[in-house]
Amino acid sequence: MKKVRRLEGEKVGRKEDRLFYLKELSSNECQCGRHKSPRNSFCFRCYSDLPPHMQKELWQMLGDGYEAAYDAAVHYLNS
Ligand SMILES: [Zn+2]
Repeated sequence: MKKVRRLEGEKVGRKEDRLFYLKELSSNECQCGRHKSPRNSFCFRCYSDLPPHMQKELWQMLGDGYEAAYDAAVHYLNS
């Protein structure tokens, strides 16, 4: 029983990490403050500013590289 509870706790922790990215994705406000479509990572202008390889990386799944791609893109756009 103890083991099961601990495993569930780890699962919840991972879920909360992803919640931020999930919220960003489903939001209709881009990180720059402009309107964006829910399910898109960024507004058209931010997305267009990204180099092609970064745009491509944003199509990865959550938990499969998306988080790092999103962070890199935000860093790129704000630097
Ligand atoms: Zn934007």
